[in-house]
Parts: sequence; C-alpha cells; structure tokens
Amino acid sequence: MKKAILITVLALGSDISVAQNQDFRVLNDQLIVKQGQVLIVDVNKYILASDIGVYAFGSTYTPNKNGRTFIGVDSEKVKPGLYVVYLVNMKDGSWVGSQSSQVEVLSGSLPVVRINKKSASSQVDSKRRAKESQLISGAYARGSKSEDFTDGDFIYPLKDLFITGPFGFRAYSNATFLHRGVDLRATAGTSVLAVNSGKVVLAKTNFSLEGNMVILDHGSGVFSIYMHLSRILVKEGQTVNKGQIIALSGNTGSSTGPHLHLAFKVSGTIVDPFGSIEVINKY
Ligand SMILES: [Zn+2]
Repeated sequence: MKKAILITVLALGSDISVAQNQDFRVLNDQLIVKQGQVLIVDVNKYILASDIGVYAFGSTYTPNKNGRTFIGVDSEKVKPGLYVVYLVNMKDGSWVGSQSSQVEVLSGSLPVVRINKKSASSQVDSKRRAKESQLISGAYARGSKSEDFTDGDFIYPLKDLFITGPFGFRAYSNATFLHRGVDLRATAGTSVLAVNSGKVVLAKTNFSLEGNMVILDHGSGVFSIYMHLSRILVKEGQTVNKGQIIALSGNTGSSTGPHLHLAFKVSGTIVDPFGSIEVINKY
C-alpha cells in the first residue's frame, strides 16, 4: 500500500528529486541546507514513538508530537559537506529502520563585518555572568520539544524592518566572532511583536550583555529571543499570541545604540533568524 502511494507521488511530478525513504522525509529542497539554518525532517507517524530520534551531524534530535523535527545547523561546528540522516533509538543509539537520507550542508556564506569598537562584553563580571547563564539555560530547559505552540507562519518582530547588523561574523582587530542574531533598526520604545504564538520562558531585566530580555518557546525545540528591550510587557509562564506586543525596544545591556537584537535557537543551536524563518515557513 505504501509503495503505491510513493509511486503516485513520483508520477505526479512532485519535486522529490531523490527517492525518499518511508520512515522519514527530509523536507528541505534537494536535501540541501545552509550553515546557520534549519534542516526539517518529518518522521512518519507509524514509526513515531517516544524513544525515536533523528540522527544528524553527530547528534540526536527529538521529533515533536506530529513527527516534525527542526534541526539547527551550527554555523561553525557543522562544516560544509555531505551528511547521513537516519532514525535512532534514543536509549541505546541503535539505528531504527533500514533507511537513511544523505543531505548536503552548504557554506552559510556569512558576511564578515569589520567593526571599530568592540562592545563592553570583555568587562563583564564573571560571577554575575555565571548566574545569568544559569537563568538563560534554565529557561531553555523549560521549553517543550513535543508540543507545537505555533499558529501558522512565523512573522517578523517589527512593523518596519531594516537590518543594521546581519547574522554573521564580526572582525575586530585580529579577532573574529560570530554575531549570533540580527540587529534591527528600532528607536527606543518601538513595539516588539511575538514572531509566533508561544510561551514566555524568560522575561527578566538587567542582563549584563542582553539587557532586558524575553525568550519565547514556540515548542518543537524552537525559541525566539529579544534583547536590549526598554520595557517588558509579558510575564514568565504566560502564553502569547503571534503578533502580540511583548515588549518595547531599547538600548539596555551591551548595546551601542537603540536597536532590537533578535535571535533564534533551534534544537540547542543559535541560527540565523531570518534565514530560518524563511525555511520553516516554506514547509
Ligand atoms: Zn546584535
């Protein structure tokens, strides 16, 4: 029966260019993903169980309750090349099923922006930072991998969108570091919108780098992060709707002028928010 369905799909001239196996399907066009973006894998319902994971890039990823698995591709750790994706039993790491898919990771071609002045990050008190890091990782740990809180496509967090600092590398003197988000032009007090429905897992003020920050859990291991805010309008544990005003933008924390820093974390990896929104909305 399943074979017949597969043949029908191919006969209709679908854009499946490589025969997909039946246990799971990689959704990205031509099985290609860029560094800093998201690989999407649908695990078929008949094989989906609590102990089934997707193996890719040396790690195992948990599908949500519908079988959809979002895998953030690290911009630095995952090098361009060919990788094999397959299903594993998460208890013992053994291969489940008989099939695998080959995916190709392309260079993210991330921009390198030369800057004149490094932000104050090197002056941060290490004890204070350790406490902050604990709060942040605790927030991510409260996120849900199995639920899907989203309501259709992701949107952008500002009405007027202008990128002043892309996701990519910043070069200062002889050092290069990754700018792990997108800087958007926003005068202080601009309304910041939830990019999709979700739960507030962090809403706290006065982080040394991030300033006042909100983290939303969209389920499926996907988080959106909003930094340097002047005012936070939501509380931890609260549910928010897509497009809801969650905060006002500002210039708090390590920031050299009013703007919104938007970040995206997918399955534990910080990815390019705009590139990832584009990929996630496509499927
Ligand atoms: Zn930034």
